[in-house]
Amino acid sequence: MKMLEVSVVTPDGPVFEGTANMVSAKAKSGELGVMPGHVPLVAPLTINAIRVHEGSKTHYVAVSGGFIEIRPEKVTVLAQAAELASDIEVDRARAAKERAEQRLASNQSDLDRKRAELALKRATNRLEIASRK
Ligand code: ATP
Repeated sequence: MKMLEVSVVTPDGPVFEGTANMVSAKAKSGELGVMPGHVPLVAPLTINAIRVHEGSKTHYVAVSGGFIEIRPEKVTVLAQAAELASDIEVDRARAAKERAEQRLASNQSDLDRKRAELALKRATNRLEIASRK
């Protein structure tokens, strides 16, 4: 059976390297289900999970935005931050979520609000993915 090569890469190095029958990702334009032979595409991602389906196994990777590059035999995800579900520190994500919620509850500039909203999304995403490992 044809397989996809999959790499998830951050500025700190690779987070996941493997093969898959299918990769699911949430691009800004909507859900992508990628199988071998997919048309080439580059798309910006939302703060979400990348699901790498390898036989009966599914690897969950939290990605904080970035881009997915699809080629017929390879999927590359480039993100500022990404973690495998098993590497997510739950206490840290809970603390980040609380900090962001407190910031959002306080009076602040639009810019700080935007930053806090993104921090909240990253933390919520990490908590959800950590609960699936
Ligand atoms: P924090 O406020 O806890 O730093 P953050 O959302 O601002 O959270 P990022 O800037 O997205 O953090 O990530 C900075 C680095 O820390 C990245 O390498 C990221 O993978 C890692 N990281 C952040 N939160 C966690 C977590 N809960 N578990 C594991 N690694 C994390």
